This record gives sequence, C-alpha cells and structure tokens, in this order.
Amino acid sequence: MNIDYPLWMEIDSQSLHNNFTRILQHLSIPNASRIIGVVKADAYGHGIESVLLLQKWGMNRFGVATVQEGEALRQLGIKGTIYLLGGFINQEIPGIFKNHLTPALSSREEWDQLKSAVQLNQQELEFHLKIDSGMYRMGFLPEELDESFIKQMSHHPYLHLKGVMTHFASSENDPTYTHRQFEIFQNFLQKKFLSEQVSIQNLEKHCCNSAGFLFFPHYHLDMVRVGIALFGVSPIQDPSPVRSLGLSPVMRIKSRVKLLKHLPSGCCIGYGGTCITERPTRLAVIPIGYAQGFLRRLSNRMEVLIKGQRAKCLGVISMDQMMVDVTSIPDVKRGDLVTILGSDGPDEIRAEEMAAWAETIPHEILCSFIRIKNRIVV
Ligand SMILES: *Cc1c(COP(=O)(O)O)cnc(C)c1O
Repeated sequence: MNIDYPLWMEIDSQSLHNNFTRILQHLSIPNASRIIGVVKADAYGHGIESVLLLQKWGMNRFGVATVQEGEALRQLGIKGTIYLLGGFINQEIPGIFKNHLTPALSSREEWDQLKSAVQLNQQELEFHLKIDSGMYRMGFLPEELDESFIKQMSHHPYLHLKGVMTHFASSENDPTYTHRQFEIFQNFLQKKFLSEQVSIQNLEKHCCNSAGFLFFPHYHLDMVRVGIALFGVSPIQDPSPVRSLGLSPVMRIKSRVKLLKHLPSGCCIGYGGTCITERPTRLAVIPIGYAQGFLRRLSNRMEVLIKGQRAKCLGVISMDQMMVDVTSIPDVKRGDLVTILGSDGPDEIRAEEMAAWAETIPHEILCSFIRIKNRIVV
C-alpha cells in the first residue's frame, strides 16, 4: 500500500468485525439488537466511517453523546436507533426530532421541554429513562420519580417510553459499588407504581458499559452499551480482559522517520532540556506531536516500534515532532516505518500501554487520536 502521509491511522476492519462477532457470542442471547455500539467522540477517535461498517454487518443500535454526533451519523446513512446518552440543552431539541434520536432523559425539565416541542411539531419520539444509581452525573435520582410523573411519561400520545437505563461509575474496579448500583436500579424497576403504568417486560433495560459487559455477565439485561471493547481495547490498563474474549485493537497508527543524527553524551534534548544524553546517541525525529494527539504527558515515557524494536521518546513532545532513541536499532534510515500503535514483528504497542505511560485510561488515549486526519480502512 502506498501511503504518502507522514502520519496515518489504519482502521483494521477485520478486527472490528471480529470484535462485533465475539461480543455477540458473549451475550446469553446473541442478537445484534442487544448491543448498543457506543460511538461517541467520532467512534472513539476511529472516525465515523467505521460505524457504517458496523451497520453493514448488522449492528442496528448506536449510542452518541451529543445531538451533533447523532446528526453526523444520520448524514452518513445510519438508519438504526441512535441513543442520545449524554443529554441535551434546549437549543438541541429540534435536532433530536429532525434526526430521530432517542434521548435518555435525566430530569423533569428535559421532559417538560420535549413535551412543549411536541405540542408544536406533533412528531413521535421514543425515549429512555436514565436512573442515577450512584454515578451522580446524568439521570434521575430514584426519589425524583414518583407515581404521577411516571404516569404522565408513560401515557403521552407522542412521546414513548421504551427503556430504562443506568450507568456504572466503577464497574472496572469496584464490584461492591457496582452491585449496590445494580441493586438500586433493580429496586426502581420493581416499584409497584412502575409496573402499574408500564409493562416492565417490554421496557429495554440496560446498565453495562464495556467494563460491566466484561466483568458482570449477569448484569447484561436486555442490552449492553459497549464502546471501548468494540474497538478491541480494554477499559483498564490491563489488556487481558479483552484479549481473553478474543477482541483485538482496531486502531493502528504509523509514521516515518524524518531525520536522524548522532549526538555525543551531555546533550540536553528538546524544550526545557528534560533529557540529557548519557552516551553517544543516535536520535530519530518523527513527525508526531501533541497537535496530533500525543499527550505531553507521554514525554520521556512513550515508546515506538522501528524495525520491530522499541525506541524510547527523548525529551518533551513538541507540537508536531518527537525525538526517539534508535541507538540500539541498527541501520535505521530516513523514511523507515514507525509503528506507534499496533504491532511490528513480535512486539506490539497497545492503547492500554500508552494509557499506563500517560497515567490515564485507554479511552482518553483513543479519543486524543481523533486529531489524526489521515485514516485508511484496511
Ligand atoms: C461512554 C458510555 C458507554 C460506553 O463506555 P465504554 O467504557 O467505552 O464501554 C456506555 N454508557 C454510557 C452512558 C456512556 O456514556
């Protein structure tokens, strides 16, 4: 393949397809309608073209954070249900109707505003109810929902209550808290006044993000909302939970060596001179920097693969360049391939490892690469 860019992202469509299939197989009922592919932030930095692939393979439910993201998916040709997971402001309401998004409601104000909009446009809209069981972000606190309000919401001529959801705050590392959240969610679902107004059976109930999906199979309920796992990356810095399920990373990032030089010992490399050579060093410059999403926090920590070997970052990452140590890699030449994310030979650099270098979660690493505009689907 001939690629003329100094930096590019490859989307491994086979891995994406494989991940979708494996996630399906891991559900007690392997039906595509039981997966909400969470594709906010331009599909976790992979670009929304990948959502079209998922649709082609049978995925028919998607989750976004904003109305704008939902609109972009509709314009791309996404036909299935698009859940608006992140709420909305008043000004976005016309966009919800126009793009047939399915909002998850978190407050009476949201409900009232949707209701007023419907009085004008008389359009039908399905919605889900979001319960705040302990995340303390979006969602109704259970005590905010009383009988009369539920009655009102479940008998509206245009607005149709289709599901109830909650969101885990610590499903990746705190089973006790997760169990408590699940219990609070279940207690709400078992409320007598709820079953008197709606058929609980017919409501779509869901609570699992990727970590919930991976670690709490008995909490899958009617649907799971998988984001990061769909892209083959673990929600924690340890990749083994996704590996053991046979999921593999979809994103690969590559670049090329732009410049090479020999330095004696005692050179202070980069802005602020945070790295001083302790031996004669062969340095390579690569055209990647924080403008392309490589967090400055990765400075002096991150590694790339050149000729199948690791080359460590020297000094701070600048806006569009980074220096790496290739002293122990023989015959590195200008133009040589640099693998930043992905495998080269037996070695592999994963988003989880990068997250550990940057002391963050893999989600943030993937999202930061939204800035890499050169994407090819392979
Ligand atoms: C982002 C998000 C998810 C997906 O989270 P992952 O950890 O990427 O699987 C699920 N549910 C909600 C409400 C979200 O906002």
